[in-house]
Formats: sequence, structure tokens, C-alpha cells
Amino acid sequence: MRKNIVAGNWKMNKNVTEAQDLMFQLLEYKRNHTPNCKVWIAPPSLYLMMAKDLYEQNEIGVFSQDMSEHESGAYTGETSADMLESIGVNGSLIGHSERRLYHGETDSHCNRKIKLALDKGLTPIYCNGETLDQRKSGQHLEVVKNQTEVALFTLSADEIKKVVIAYEPVWAIGTGETASPEQAQEIHAHIRNLIANKYGNEVADEISILYGGSVKPDNAKEIFSQPDIDGGLIGGAALKMADFAQIIEGF
Ligand code: PEP
Repeated sequence: MRKNIVAGNWKMNKNVTEAQDLMFQLLEYKRNHTPNCKVWIAPPSLYLMMAKDLYEQNEIGVFSQDMSEHESGAYTGETSADMLESIGVNGSLIGHSERRLYHGETDSHCNRKIKLALDKGLTPIYCNGETLDQRKSGQHLEVVKNQTEVALFTLSADEIKKVVIAYEPVWAIGTGETASPEQAQEIHAHIRNLIANKYGNEVADEISILYGGSVKPDNAKEIFSQPDIDGGLIGGAALKMADFAQIIEGF
């Protein structure tokens, strides 16, 4: 059975006091509620150790927002899979659209990062999705197909089962514009079909596919009710405990 997951991507937000505050609120929430989904966060890398120290019983999964495609060495500013693993981090976002846009990341980079993450026992959350122009010109299914094939289809069946996918249409990220539940479901089913055709239904059914793009307390429930949507990757609305809690309760 695949997992339901709500993951918060904090991006480059919060100073240390604010970050600690929100981490504590999340822990308190988790102690007083039994959500029907896994709760994960991806805080800035500077705060990963603090999160791991606080969530000593793994109450909340802790993810980095990116990791290097290289194992180690002269790569100033980068964080390796090995470093993440060594402090107990659970996994990493890979290929977020902001990494693609501002840092030129491609699906080939993602493929290398995903393999490295898996080799270290980390869970990759592989992000993909089309731009507005690609959707308007009707290329969205083809774009997502290419992304999925290049980033994931060199993996073995055992490896791909450990990947979480986040479909995030670029036009819906941080814009207040959300894909309709039907638009999101169409792409999620498409991704699952691609995986089923390559690896078989059993593998495809095990993979959690999250939706990301302006998920808010008032639309989470409807989005999560779609058959191929197994949760959300949440940006802006993960920065306030009250909003994040309502989204978690969408399950
Ligand atoms: C994201 O950054 O992954 C995201 C989905 O952001 P937002 O929820 O703010 O659109």
C-alpha cells in the first residue's frame, strides 16, 4: 500500500528562531493528533540538524531541499547525499522547479541525484511538471512523460519503488493558481500509467505521487480525494502551523 504524505517545502524562509518555533509547533501537533498521512518537512539545510535533534523519534520526516549530484570533493556550497545520511536526514527534494529555473537543473542531473540518494538509503522526492506555455500548447502530457523517463527510467523496479514523485505544474507554484483536481488527477494517472507500462502495475501502485502548486487549507481535501493523488508538496501554506495542520487534515 502506498503512503499518503503531506510534505512542507519551507524554501528560503525563516530565521533560526522562527524555524525552531515552527518545528516545535509541528512536534506538539504530532503529539496531540494522529494524522492519516506521513508529515514531512524540507527546511533550509542550515536547520536540518536541528530538526533531526528535535524529532529524535522520527515523528516528522526531515528532507533537504536539494543535494549534490557529486559524491564529494571540490564542489563549493554543495551538500552531499553522504552528509545528509550521516545526520539522519530521511531524503531530499530533487528537481524542484526553482532549482531548474534558477540553477539550470535538468532531468539528467535529477537522474544522477536520485541514484546517489538511493545508494545512500535516502528517499528522493522527484519533482516535475510543465510550464504555462507547455500547458497552453497542449504539450503537458508529453513533457511530463519525457521528464519521468529521463529522471527515473534507468532505475530498477526495486529502486523506483523507493522514489516519491511530486507533480508540480510550474504555473501553479507560488502563484495562487491551482491545477483543478481533475487536471492534477489526469497527470497523476498518466505518470502512474507510464510507470506501470515500464515496471508493471504492482510497482506503479506502490509509488506515492504528490501534487504541489498552491495547495491551501480550502482546496486540499478535494485534491487529496483524487484516486491517484497521494498527498501534497506544500510551499507557502507550510509556513504557518494553522494552515499546514488544516492541509494535513485534508486526509
Ligand atoms: C512548492 O514550492 O513546492 C510549492 C508547491 O509551493 P506553493 O505551495 O507555494 O505553490
